[in-house]
Amino acid sequence: MRILVVEDEPRLLKNLARALREEGYAVDTAEDGEDGLFKAINYDYDAIVLDVMLPRLDGWDILTGLRKTKKTPVLMLTARDATADRVRGLDGGADDYLVKPFDLAELFARVRALIRRSAGQARPNLELGDVEIDPRARVVTRSGQTVPLTAREYAILEYLALHQGEVISRSELYEHLFDENDDTLSNLLDVHVYSLRKKLGRELIATRRGQGYCISPET
Ligand code: CA
Repeated sequence: MRILVVEDEPRLLKNLARALREEGYAVDTAEDGEDGLFKAINYDYDAIVLDVMLPRLDGWDILTGLRKTKKTPVLMLTARDATADRVRGLDGGADDYLVKPFDLAELFARVRALIRRSAGQARPNLELGDVEIDPRARVVTRSGQTVPLTAREYAILEYLALHQGEVISRSELYEHLFDENDDTLSNLLDVHVYSLRKKLGRELIATRRGQGYCISPET
């Protein structure tokens, strides 16, 4: 999952990006509204964490610009006691908000919920036959037994499972799993998918030649 964080306070931005990366997300950052809007429109993020007060364009301008073309879930960061800000944000197309200062555990939970809901999933865990994914703990079990996955394998599986029934192209996977700073060539999708099939069953992930990968809901 790839997240954009738009925040002009350098220390908070750095801490948020680091904490989200430690949670396994690919994270892009923007320090002003102009850069934030550019990235929000030009990349397909799974969620955007958006500060309200920003230089150049503020959070509402970004929302307005973004909502002309995209449904990307947005979590707004607002100041304490600024009820009007929260109302304006939600009415302007934000999906949720968090009041500063906030607890990281709550931010993570809200981001997980936004990503889950925007993919049309109501339940916290993802079930694929005998395979179950717990996105809170980032743990995968098969027939009740924990299956150790690498961070890359987990990210690929979670994305495909969240969008089960859809054929996901390789470029979509790349865009959602790797951030703007990730130029490593360890991103060989085929290798990770091969390993996932070995660990979780060959039939779990189907390859649609020339199109991409797919996890069927009836798996
Ligand atoms: Ca700010």
